[in-house]
Parts: sequence; structure tokens; C-alpha cells
Amino acid sequence: MTAELLTRARMNEQLQPLKKQPRVGKASHSGTQDDVVYAHIFDAILEQRLAPGTKLSEEALGEIFGVSRTIIRRALSRLAHESVVLLRPNRGAVVASPSVEDARQIFYSRRLVERAITELAVEHATAEQLAELRQMVADEQASFSRGDRGAGIRLSGEFHLKLAEAAKNAPLISFQRSLVSQTSLIIAQYESGSRSHCSYDEHNQLIDAIEARDAVKAVSLMMHHMDHIDSKLNLDEDSASDDLHAVFSHLLQTKKKAPRSAAPR
Ligand SMILES: [Zn+2]
Repeated sequence: MTAELLTRARMNEQLQPLKKQPRVGKASHSGTQDDVVYAHIFDAILEQRLAPGTKLSEEALGEIFGVSRTIIRRALSRLAHESVVLLRPNRGAVVASPSVEDARQIFYSRRLVERAITELAVEHATAEQLAELRQMVADEQASFSRGDRGAGIRLSGEFHLKLAEAAKNAPLISFQRSLVSQTSLIIAQYESGSRSHCSYDEHNQLIDAIEARDAVKAVSLMMHHMDHIDSKLNLDEDSASDDLHAVFSHLLQTKKKAPRSAAPR
């Protein structure tokens, strides 16, 4: 069992009190109450169900999720830390809406960072880290196969974070964390259709090259991978909603139908 799976198993153990909450959604939504709220909002943004610029009212969200405003505030603060949500003084939180120019700058930085990370990962990645990376790609593929696009995009991002860890350079890890969250938002906002943004085949090929300690090939694969993500963005698309109750209507319905417990997922 990988460290990641162990962590998840532990988080599931801690989840007991939440079973009384109207907790619906993706299998990955486990952990504390603010983790659950965080994951639901993050998914709604990534799946383009919440439009950029939407006001995230603490009161409305508290009502929808059946939790206190303190918990909502904690979840929003975490989303803000990842630049997915903006906290405006005295005016509350809104879904971030990176401009086309923001997107271009973030992608430019992402390329530089990914190149450095790939070179260092070729040098430093351990067998255990490579095995973890392969497991993550399998999880990512499974998410897209069952149509869970939000989880798929999140796992794709986590793959790139795990790779950054394998590079063993703390400033790069920190920079990558911020870039990956922002890239996820841009992809969700601008990617056209239902195509997955990170090809898990490309992730697998990348692991092969890193395992073979072939820096030239690994960097070349990573740059192609970045090109593909870039080329799938449609900078005109706009299809999400700004109505909180409509976006989370499945939660409200379940709350009415099953007040005592949600089915385990
Ligand atoms: Zn990727």
C-alpha cells in the first residue's frame, strides 16, 4: 500500500461524524468537514459548473452544506491560498477568473518549472517514488474512465506535484504547488469539450524515460506534454453558472431525501 493510500485510509477513518452530513459527490471527498466543502467547491469550479467571478456567499454555502460559516470560511481560505478563489476585503469570496494574459504568464512559468523538475527527477527519483507516480496515473485514468473529470484534473495536478517532490528542490516544489492549482483553474475555465487535459499515456511515457534516466528524452516528452495542454485550451468558451443553489442542487435534494445518512461512496 502506498503512503498516499494509507493517508486516504486514515482520512476515511476520521470521516465517521460526517456520515450524518448531506455528503454527496466524488469518492475522493473524504476528510474533515472543511476538506469535504473544499473538495466540492474545487470540483464544481474544475468541472465548469461554477463560473469564474461567481460570488461564494458564506451564508448560502453554509446552508447548502449544512455546516457552520467557520467551516465554509476555512475551506474558502484554502481555495484562496491556491489562487482558485479570491478573498476580497469586506466583499467576500469569488471564484477567480484568470484572464487570457494571466493564463499565458502562468503557462510560461509552468514550462520553465516543469523542465527543471524533470531534469532533477531524472537524477533523484527513487524506485518508490516512481512506483507512486505509476499508481497516481492509474488512479487518474480510472477517474476519467468513470467520468469524474474534476477528480481526474486534480489527480493530474497531483502527478506533477509528486514529480516535483522527486526533484528534491524545496523552492521548486513550492512554486509548482501554486502553478499547478492555477493551471487547473485555467484548464477548467478554458479547455474545450470533455477532453482530458493531461494525457495519462504521456504521464506513463514520462515515467519510463525518468526510470531509464534519459534526461533528454524526459525533458522532450514533458515539453510535448505542455504543448498538448496548451493546444487544447479554448480561450473563448464560457458555459458555467453563477447560481450556487443550482450548481449544488444535487446536495440539497439528497439532504431532503436522506436526512439521516448518505450512502457510502
Ligand atoms: Zn500532466
